[in-house]
Amino acid sequence: MNLLLVEDDQLLGQGIEITLRNEGYQVDWVRDGQVALDTLLKSANQYDALVLDLGLPTLDGIQVLSKARREGIELPTLILTARDSIEQKVEGLDSGADDYLVKPFEIQELYARLRVMMRRQQGRTQTLIEHNGLTVNPTSMQVWFNEETITLTRKEYLLLLELVSNAGRVQTRDHLEQTLYGLDEDVESNALEVHVHKLRKKLTNDFIKTKRGVGYIINKEHVNKENTNK
Ligand code: CA
Repeated sequence: MNLLLVEDDQLLGQGIEITLRNEGYQVDWVRDGQVALDTLLKSANQYDALVLDLGLPTLDGIQVLSKARREGIELPTLILTARDSIEQKVEGLDSGADDYLVKPFEIQELYARLRVMMRRQQGRTQTLIEHNGLTVNPTSMQVWFNEETITLTRKEYLLLLELVSNAGRVQTRDHLEQTLYGLDEDVESNALEVHVHKLRKKLTNDFIKTKRGVGYIINKEHVNKENTNK
């Protein structure tokens, strides 16, 4: 677990760093808002979570977080706010923080909150399949393409799920027919083609590729902006 800690208070920063290291976290500690933002823009994907103080030199925590979020950085973030500052809390959550902790706090409490935040994050990433503008929620069977809800028949949904869950690997006709119809059902010879055709109309024509004589494939994800930052 890699953590980016942004805290300008020497004692508090040290306390957090030591405690979390003892819990097995890798901690990178920076003490300045601008440095924090630069670190995030350059290497946010090296971290699993961000612990962010709000009162910081050069750039305050709210600015750091809102700028980072605007750049598409989704790192789970816990903010540390001064005591009794309701406005700061609200502002922090509005800027995209996932949780907050009011100073002073027990460092064990920080550790507990981080664990909860990470569990929530893992739950989110496990339930959604995202691929080249397509998002599938296998729990609710909802599907979005380029942020728009699309409606699929049950067979279309099963076919798409099978292909996207195995992106980059060709799925043979036999395998796909079995997935859709099971072993017992008699399938019309062009049934699979019909479903693929309908899916292509609802997505884009080239989303599902034909491997002539073999089956179908959804290619591995194109390199997008997020990946080029890595
Ligand atoms: Ca501070």
